[in-house]
Amino acid sequence: SFHKSKGQHILKNPMLVDTIVQKSGIKSTDTILEIGPGTGNLTKKLLEAGKLVIAVEVDPRMVLELQRRFQGTPHSSRLKVIQGDVLKTELPYFDICVANIPYQISSPLTFKLLNHQPAFRCAIIMFQREFAMRLVAQPGDKLYCRLTVNTQLLSRVFHLLKVGKNNFRPPPKVDSSVVRIEPRKPRIEVKQKEWDGFLRTCFNRKNKTLGAIFRQKNVLSLLEKNYKTLQALNLSVGNRDAEMASLRLGNANEVETMEMDDDNDDEDGGADDEMDVEDGDAEGETSEFKKMVLAVLKEGNFEEKRSSKLKLEEFLYLLSLFNKAGIHFS
Ligand code: SAM
Repeated sequence: SFHKSKGQHILKNPMLVDTIVQKSGIKSTDTILEIGPGTGNLTKKLLEAGKLVIAVEVDPRMVLELQRRFQGTPHSSRLKVIQGDVLKTELPYFDICVANIPYQISSPLTFKLLNHQPAFRCAIIMFQREFAMRLVAQPGDKLYCRLTVNTQLLSRVFHLLKVGKNNFRPPPKVDSSVVRIEPRKPRIEVKQKEWDGFLRTCFNRKNKTLGAIFRQKNVLSLLEKNYKTLQALNLSVGNRDAEMASLRLGNANEVETMEMDDDNDDEDGGADDEMDVEDGDAEGETSEFKKMVLAVLKEGNFEEKRSSKLKLEEFLYLLSLFNKAGIHFS
């Protein structure tokens, strides 16, 4: 009997297993990481193709079944099984990862793999179709989102294969896709918290213009808080930057608290049919800090652009402009 909670859907189509292994481009010298080997249908083909298979499986019954299946075969010395939750397991060195995973761990697993060092050559992973399409989405596609940009920062992702539900036993509720993930080498270096805060802001209404997003009261007040904190630190070490000192912070603060905060509890997505209502300033009350933020957007010509259509390079560029102006997201 299979555990639904562990996402146990076994690949029952041997041709499909062959195709996945072929498309993986495994070399006979490769150490392969398999996640969630289950009963070992994929494991068997991986053992035939590579040098060593390290399989991480959370279910002890599956671990036993796997060991029984390969015991006494010529492959058994080239299979290492680690029993445990892959998200809590320290991953060994591997050249390539091949996995038919439970879909509930898709996102954390992807980022765990992409942050693993040294970087592997590629990962061939079966995902729920929609998750896979998010990973490969391009600017302007409906599924383009923060996950897309974060993944594409660290890797290139290619769609390999559509897989219908009936290739599994028991069949899952959704269709699947196999993708190939290649970590970027060298990595694009970003400050993790800074990047994360920046992207969350840009995508908090992914179909709004950046001009509208950066006029939101909660966004401005958070950025201004960061700005003041950094400025205080800089002043205290004697770095009296003229531009910083000229900002009348007390004044800006009063204006901010007078404006209505009506526009900040909408999550991302679903904003297609929403009107672009911006927080209006009461006449003549645009704060100095807000002017700074909008000047950055203008400098890069970003005011009328939308996150749903921005390329990775454009996000990186906009963040560099903010940082250059002393504006930080963490
Ligand atoms: N690879 C097999 C196949 O293709 O037939 C089984 C795939 S099944 C979709 C997912 C497998 O991952 C199950 O064997 C399940 O027990 C295992 N699993 C679920 N959660 C896991 C986790 N957090 N860490 C490691 N394995 C996990």
